[in-house]
Amino acid sequence: MVLWMPGPGTYTGEDTAELFLHGGRAVTEGVAMALVGLGLRPAEPGEFTRRAFLNGRMDLVEAEAVHDLIFAETEAQRRQALRQLDGELGRVYRDWSDRLRFMLAQQEALIDFPDEDLPPEVEAELVATLMSLRSDVAAHLNDARRGEKLREGLVFAIVGPPNVGKSSLINALAERDVAIVSSIPGTTRDALEARVVLGGVPVTLVDTAGLRETADAIEAEGVRRALVRAEDADLIVEVSDSGHFADEPASLRIMVANKSDLGQPAQAGAVAVSALTGDGLDVLRDRLAVAARTMTETAGPPPLTRARHRAALLEALDRLDTAIETDLPELRGEDLRLALRAIGRIVGHVGVEDILDTLFGQFCIGK
Ligand code: GDP
Repeated sequence: MVLWMPGPGTYTGEDTAELFLHGGRAVTEGVAMALVGLGLRPAEPGEFTRRAFLNGRMDLVEAEAVHDLIFAETEAQRRQALRQLDGELGRVYRDWSDRLRFMLAQQEALIDFPDEDLPPEVEAELVATLMSLRSDVAAHLNDARRGEKLREGLVFAIVGPPNVGKSSLINALAERDVAIVSSIPGTTRDALEARVVLGGVPVTLVDTAGLRETADAIEAEGVRRALVRAEDADLIVEVSDSGHFADEPASLRIMVANKSDLGQPAQAGAVAVSALTGDGLDVLRDRLAVAARTMTETAGPPPLTRARHRAALLEALDRLDTAIETDLPELRGEDLRLALRAIGRIVGHVGVEDILDTLFGQFCIGK
């Protein structure tokens, strides 16, 4: 069966034909060879989405969302990608571009007609718009990297003295998710990590029990990396088997009193569990899930999801600050232009040729 879809209403914007074939390899390959014989060629990875972008069917932020949707591992990641694909995030950035273009026009009028009868409030209005845009960009940036964290996943470090049951706890937590946990063998570091889903958020549990002295160079490198990971962990899970902890509970630290089956009382604020019997693990799971959700949930406009966007917005913010500080109309005009260009790069209006290969190269063939 052949499905013919004329452009420009298609995914790529171009005329498209879809062929439905039997699943057999020989049939598929035979048809593919026949098509090549007609002068056609197989698509590159991400080529469909790249064409959709080049033909104006989607902006770069939406193209990135297609990628994120394909690679979404959890429900929360899928929802975030869909929101972005829906164009919500792109609309935020385009609105900022529109405001900048409007300010630029006002600024140019002030430069071109300094002595004419421009209403006196033009300058004041311009500065007010500039300040409000600055505060919107700053608020968007000041999000504790929630969107990026959901995209990339969180890291929870399991810390505590030897033999308190850190590895047992990770195994117990990971076991329940056996269907979604993927342990990627190959490096020493991976042996110290387990990937689980908590509250819809992918979380890597780093087992610092593996952080021992070792003579093996490769293992030592694994240990070093695990230490670095634990250092920038989003949450510290402190494990004890005496029921006591040196510190008080803190917002980014959860205290776990393991081996509750041995009957020792747990310090107030600690979650009592037994990795051995499974007792209390549900409570611990809930606590971890709430923490994971709190760190990634956003209210209001869709969150920033990529370091690329953050870099461009930081540059724009810098330019806006200079524009606010300067009194020289010509200099302010230039700052506004540079801010506009930085934001334009996010949605893909200017100067993005260099990143296209990198972005679309990460896609699968056929997308
Ligand atoms: P780690 O060095 O902190 O990773 O500790 P392990 O997970 O290797 O556990 C150390 C020892 O404590 C092992 O013998 C475990 O079987 C035991 N253990 C772990 N969790 C529990 C528990 O909840 N109850 C009891 N009774 N023993 C436990």
